[in-house]
Amino acid sequence: MAEAVIRVAGLAKSYPTAAGDFQALRGVDLEIAAGDYVAIMGPSGSGKSTFMNLLGCLDTPSAGDYFLAGQNVARLDPDALARLRNRTLGFVFQGFNLLPRMSLVDNVALPLVYAGADRDTRRARARELLERVGLGRNADARPNQISGGQQQRVAIARALVNRPRLILADEPTGNLDSHTSEEIMRLFGELNGEGITIVLVTHEADVAAHARRQVRFRDGAIVGDHLTAEAAC
Ligand code: ADP
Ligand code: MG
Repeated sequence: MAEAVIRVAGLAKSYPTAAGDFQALRGVDLEIAAGDYVAIMGPSGSGKSTFMNLLGCLDTPSAGDYFLAGQNVARLDPDALARLRNRTLGFVFQGFNLLPRMSLVDNVALPLVYAGADRDTRRARARELLERVGLGRNADARPNQISGGQQQRVAIARALVNRPRLILADEPTGNLDSHTSEEIMRLFGELNGEGITIVLVTHEADVAAHARRQVRFRDGAIVGDHLTAEAAC
């Protein structure tokens, strides 16, 4: 079996609420191999986004371990964690999260600012990625001048700009019609074909069917984990 890009053990997250701590994740164990394509499913409120935010190092767990590309995330100082995160993973959100006042090329180039690349290098690399997602001719447009599906392509280009080995996507097709969703899923399929590991949240079975493996959450725990081909039998 390929090396694990993601390994979590006993991963838990509780949120303080007026009624006391609420356990959004209750000790999750999961391993995701390099090159895999995993759909995270489950009802609203089952902890999917909480889990993805932990995988993306956007939040810290209350308990448990997370090894990203073999490194124990909790042991890294903030700079080392930022570096590991930047060069290992790209995050795609349901709401695209593009900066409205910036051109598409500058949106895509933004992660390279933090990586320390000079402006010409950043823009050249960003244009290359916009070409890759079929938006080369729109490079100087603003996000509000393109469709939702195109905005999500820009967000995927931004997630790819540091050549990550892992893409995390939380309901990336949640705001898109079914035709546009299929186009986005084709793009994820191509990226996975190039060897990029993909973990994406969806609650639509036809979106999940693009993945190789389907992991199901309920009440903050994993209640199912099977290969897509098995589901079809
Ligand atoms: P999903 O993405 O599967 O819909 P979430 O991970 O967003 O689920 O949420 C899991 C549970 O944790 C939900 O009951 C949600 O209300 C709760 N929750 C999420 N974020 C917070 C927060 N910041 N404070 C309190 N409760 C939260
Ligand atoms: Mg969610």
